[in-house]
Amino acid sequence: MHRVRDAATWTSKIGVMRPVDVAKGSECPTERRIVASGAPGAPGAPGHGRAAAICAVRTAGRWRRRTGLPNRSLYGGRYDTATMERPDLPVLPGIGDAFGRALRDLRISVTDRCNFRCTYCMPAEIFGKDFAFLPRGLVLSFEEITRAAEAFVALGVEKLRITGGEPLVRRDLPDLVAMLAAIRRPDGGVVDLTLTTNGSALRALSGRLRDAGLRRLTVSLDSLDDEVFRAMNGIDFPVARVLDGIAAAGEAGFSPIKVNMVVKRGANEGSLVPMARWARDARVILRFIEYMDVGHSNAWRLDEVVTADEIVATIDAAFPLEPADPNYRGEVAGRWRYRDGGGEIGVIASVSRPFCGDCTRARLSADGKLYTCLFASDGFDLREVLRGGATDEELRAAITGVWRVRRDRYSELRTEATTDLDRVEMFAIGG
Ligand code: SAM
Ligand code: SF4
Ligand code: SF4
Repeated sequence: MHRVRDAATWTSKIGVMRPVDVAKGSECPTERRIVASGAPGAPGAPGHGRAAAICAVRTAGRWRRRTGLPNRSLYGGRYDTATMERPDLPVLPGIGDAFGRALRDLRISVTDRCNFRCTYCMPAEIFGKDFAFLPRGLVLSFEEITRAAEAFVALGVEKLRITGGEPLVRRDLPDLVAMLAAIRRPDGGVVDLTLTTNGSALRALSGRLRDAGLRRLTVSLDSLDDEVFRAMNGIDFPVARVLDGIAAAGEAGFSPIKVNMVVKRGANEGSLVPMARWARDARVILRFIEYMDVGHSNAWRLDEVVTADEIVATIDAAFPLEPADPNYRGEVAGRWRYRDGGGEIGVIASVSRPFCGDCTRARLSADGKLYTCLFASDGFDLREVLRGGATDEELRAAITGVWRVRRDRYSELRTEATTDLDRVEMFAIGG
């Protein structure tokens, strides 16, 4: 079902992709391959793949060294952008990657720090007092994040998710929310702005977040059993305080609230039915997430994954379910509704039922690296572009160049062998 395109054969103006005559291209002096001619971002100029974006960066004389390898991913090394022209394919709105997947979502990690030490994400024995988190100077400022977000939105991104680490530990976060909430899409529409949090600070911050323009919220909660929850969050944090945070969010006007539960065998599969019962009563949308092999610190094992099928069967036995249609193409969670009309659940089956074919998500880490996959080993250094004096057009050209050559589909290729390969930690890019 994938449509294959060559990044060097497509041009991107904001909102439009169209074929380019490669015959008019020239050889990139640094990458030693043919790329389309013209300066990226110049009016009417052909767009480029990653090679051309980097060339532009060098030609502009603002960057002293090559700006990272955006897609040095697990399964292909550096990408060949000089093949697979498909001018027969239809013009798509926005920019598409090498498989024709549009760029629609941006997840912004505002900090790599967190007050929790969830066993599946930041185990306490590894992320102890001595762990070196990012120094402040390397973390993007609110102004830099907003400028990057504006560029992504101009290129077709419709949804921004603020995440972390724990986003609410970043000082003055409501100020950033207000800045992001003010961004408008090229058609003048508002951007779908949301935030994922562990919920520990919601009693203190819900009102300010709401006043700043946040409209949607996802809270992570892995069990209602206090003992289980305290063990999973790694800092003995009581579940009652997260539940109180969810209540505070409701009082502040967030509705509906989504709750994410990572299900790990041997840890919290016994919490599935109680969580479902609670969510039905509390009218929150519960989404179960298969435990994933993100990062390198959680000692992930396949046999600890409770699959979507098992999750659905367990809930169905207590509260009969029927499948529901996706809300939109590319929706990450499979939807199931209760037959008695008691609402619905979502199941994110990234291990047992990968959805790479519809993956439209980019991720920006707190230090400004652009990742095109949750499982990438490295990201493109957008901070260097932001701080190097690039114009807005050059910024958009750099993002376009990274996205056009994207070929990530880790979950579809996952094997026992790939889980040992180098990849970014979850708390660095926010899930
Ligand atoms: N700290 C915030 C929180 O926990 O909601 C935001 C960042 S956290 C990295 C984003 C999401 O990733 C959370 O819902 C968390 O449960 C999920 N997550 C972290 N590690 C995971 C793993 N190994 N497998 C599946 N989901 C994971
Ligand atoms: Fe922190 Fe969220 Fe990771 Fe838990 S899942 S350690 S709350 S970043
Ligand atoms: Fe997207 Fe990568 Fe996850 Fe596939 S593995 S769905 S490409 S983030």
